[in-house]
Amino acid sequence: MKSDLSTKNFEESRHYLAGGVSSSLRSSMKPVPLFATSGKGPRLRDVDGNEYVDYLLAYGPLILGHCHPQLTKDLKSQMEKGYTYGLQHAEEIKLAKLLVDIIPSAERVTFSGSGTEAVMLALRLAKSFTKKSKVVRFHGHYHGWSDSIFTSFPSADMNNKYSSQGGNLTVPGTSGQSEKSLEDIIVLPWNNTEALEETLYARRNEIAAVITEPVMCNSGCILPKEGYLERMRELTEELGIILIFDEVITGFRLALGGAQERFKIKPDLTTMGKAIAGGIPLSAVGGRKDIMALIEEGKVNHLGTLNGNPIAAAAAISTISILSAQHGAVFDRMERTAVDLAEGLKNLLEKHEIKGVVNQIGPVFHLMFTNGDVVTSFDEFMASDTKAYQTFAEKMLSEGVLIRPNGLWYISTEHSNQDVKYTLEAADRALASLVKEYS
Ligand code: PLP
Repeated sequence: MKSDLSTKNFEESRHYLAGGVSSSLRSSMKPVPLFATSGKGPRLRDVDGNEYVDYLLAYGPLILGHCHPQLTKDLKSQMEKGYTYGLQHAEEIKLAKLLVDIIPSAERVTFSGSGTEAVMLALRLAKSFTKKSKVVRFHGHYHGWSDSIFTSFPSADMNNKYSSQGGNLTVPGTSGQSEKSLEDIIVLPWNNTEALEETLYARRNEIAAVITEPVMCNSGCILPKEGYLERMRELTEELGIILIFDEVITGFRLALGGAQERFKIKPDLTTMGKAIAGGIPLSAVGGRKDIMALIEEGKVNHLGTLNGNPIAAAAAISTISILSAQHGAVFDRMERTAVDLAEGLKNLLEKHEIKGVVNQIGPVFHLMFTNGDVVTSFDEFMASDTKAYQTFAEKMLSEGVLIRPNGLWYISTEHSNQDVKYTLEAADRALASLVKEYS
């Protein structure tokens, strides 16, 4: 794989663009952060002329692949009418109606630009509604980079260390974030019903909200244990605590109505982003009428110059209409593709005698090299060999397959059986080379 021009561009970029990338995560790509030139369907091209089957999918949003013809047509049509008005418009109402229809728990919705903003708003609504201030979040989950919730996870082994009184396991996620910004945060191990029960009962008078990824997609694509989310719903309802599902990844991916449709659990508030508009920036908060009314009553401020702009709204309407065609048949197809890939990768791990786990649900899965038989907790996820995986990701790149160096794979509506075959053949060679390197 040639990367001369990406390397050259990166060097030039760093003279002008801080760090050479626009989001800190992107700088970790090896051998060098790639410079893309175009994409079509499931394929992406870079400046060096390499073509990749793309499972990064821009970190999730490209559920329809690159440049989907219908989405592009709808975007062009909206562009000729107007980019943004700072006023209300028909697409905004149309999209809001669609979401109220599609998202099981959304009686009202509102729009922003990023998942981070949606989470900020959901937390503000929950605190205002309950007149309490603490927020329970979970070890290994990610909810964006705002000061009020961004934490790092210094300890891999938390199950024995959580404290229902302390809640002081939070550590700022970045320099420049004051420790005080996390004073309201209580971090708990996920998938641990006992920790949740103990903490919520003990601190019910302080806790405004519990925020969770319904599937721990950001750390191992870990599924909730049987009954865990149900118990979380029951407890939060009983104790007057707002339950927030952060569906920025799972929304429009695990089902049109997200994880809440798939698991049949209704949170009080839902945050959405990424796939909602097929790659155009848009996020949303949806939720109970009585909570969302705080915005209408002017008690909770929700601001943003470009919120609900017609380009983003048109993109989301188009994306949702493509995803819902033929009663959402694309979701079954994407899931079959994901299962074929996941099963194929498991077989290859066996063939090359590499210990590993694939956690898959719908069109998303996490491949990890680990000695454990299962990965059902953040601690188990942290025990996986991330260095070897990064080397594997680099080898896949030179085989023409783009995957996230952290192990998460996204599938789009455009990945075909041929792409799966191509990918598995590439993985076979990459794993063989990995074994050679490590033996
Ligand atoms: N919530 C979850 C579950 C996410 O995975 C992310 C981003 O990866 C966010 C929130 C933040 O979204 P954004 O990057 O659009 O700000």
